[in-house]
Amino acid sequence: MTEKCGVVGVSLDGRDAARPLYYALYALQHRGQESAGIVTHDGFQQHSHVEMGLVGDVFDEGDLDALNGSAGIGHVRYPTAGSVDDCCAQPFSVSFKSGSLGLSHNGNLVNAEEIRDELAGLGHAFTSDGDTEVIAHDLARNLLEADLVRAVKRTMNRIHGSYSLTISHDDTVLGVRDPRGNRPLCIGSVDDGYVIASESAAIDTLDGELVRDVRPGELVVLEPDGSGFDSYQLVEPDRTAHCFFEHVYFARPDSVIDEHLVYEVRRELGRKLWAESGVESDVVMPVPDSGRAFASGYAEAAAETTPTGEPREDEDGGPEFAEGLMKNRYVGRTFIMPTQDERERAVRLKLNPIKSTVEGKSVTLIDDSIVRGTTSTQLVDLLKDCGAAEVHMRIGAPPIVAPCYMGIDMATRGELIAADRSVEEIRDVIAADSLAYLSTDAVAEALTAERGDLCLGCVTGEYPYDIEGEETDRDVNRPDIGPESAAADD
Ligand code: SF4
Repeated sequence: MTEKCGVVGVSLDGRDAARPLYYALYALQHRGQESAGIVTHDGFQQHSHVEMGLVGDVFDEGDLDALNGSAGIGHVRYPTAGSVDDCCAQPFSVSFKSGSLGLSHNGNLVNAEEIRDELAGLGHAFTSDGDTEVIAHDLARNLLEADLVRAVKRTMNRIHGSYSLTISHDDTVLGVRDPRGNRPLCIGSVDDGYVIASESAAIDTLDGELVRDVRPGELVVLEPDGSGFDSYQLVEPDRTAHCFFEHVYFARPDSVIDEHLVYEVRRELGRKLWAESGVESDVVMPVPDSGRAFASGYAEAAAETTPTGEPREDEDGGPEFAEGLMKNRYVGRTFIMPTQDERERAVRLKLNPIKSTVEGKSVTLIDDSIVRGTTSTQLVDLLKDCGAAEVHMRIGAPPIVAPCYMGIDMATRGELIAADRSVEEIRDVIAADSLAYLSTDAVAEALTAERGDLCLGCVTGEYPYDIEGEETDRDVNRPDIGPESAAADD
């Protein structure tokens, strides 16, 4: 499972934006490792530096010095739509009759092809097959006929899917979040300006303060002199569809998303996992690093109550929390290994058990998810090889049964181990002594959200957007993309 993209926008009072953008992209590196880029505007012209690679490799001092201007946007990308090459690296930038435009996108449109075909028929020439360029062209066209706010609204009326955007129109920086708020986006303040970013950890990195989340359907326009921002609620959302996996897996634990600290959500999910499917064992251990917060919540709850919910008499009761698997941090992430065979070897390279923690013990191993099952199978095997008497697997999310169309490269249905297997069948495949997942209700409770305000597409197979060939979990249809309907409610 691969992260999506990270976006940022900055508007400062006279100070160059390039370095703050660079530091913010560093803080968002976990959201995309394929390419990185910054676009700035100095009041006269736009400057751009976008390349394939990690943030630290893409920019040197000279590159940052050349990115003049106190306003700009940045992007780290893991490809989710479009080719894996530099034609789709972002920010996408273009100059046109009404000025210059830069665009960074996190998410995935499900009707990009329709809009691309329509715009191509009107003479728009596309240089990439990504959906971000579709948004940029649509916005550029609307800016020829309408002011900035109305132009953004017209584009929002036409595009369908998941998007958190930072946009630069000359030296004005904007942030837009799709009407269902699928991807995170937040606003922060620094001493001399404002920041819009995918995650609040980027704002922390700039010594800034989180102001609030960008609301679903909201456009935020930063003042070019860094003095403040204006807000326009362009679409009134009926129900949201926040991606619950941001909290489970993608976001940094130190980020606050939709008013929840991700670390605390993960601990709470771990506590609920104990309440729903706790099993007595000698040791609770996380799969590093993703399972750590879940395991700490699980072990904490296990110290308070028995698996049946009775308070423990003995203060030292419950399993011991232990780090039993050591991670080799210098091995690449498994998802960049293209074949199944290489993926299997990568797991062995990455994690090594601590024998004294495992030998002769019953172990509960906690992870955030099981995608293909390869890692889980390897880990159970590793622990048993190391002398574990029993290995119980507990997962801090429901089974992933369907793919994601909103910007996460999660695997196809055929690759997902839970797509056509029961929990017992999966347990059998991974050879664990027991296996349990968290329920969707527990996820909603931990996020203090109604189930209907979350996207649960990959665990229910029902999506909050109108996706060809898939079920929806609400009354939702793709918009009519005709120009008249898009402009109808200007
Ligand atoms: S389908 Fe799953 S991963 Fe994709 S947006 Fe919805 S909850 Fe997130």
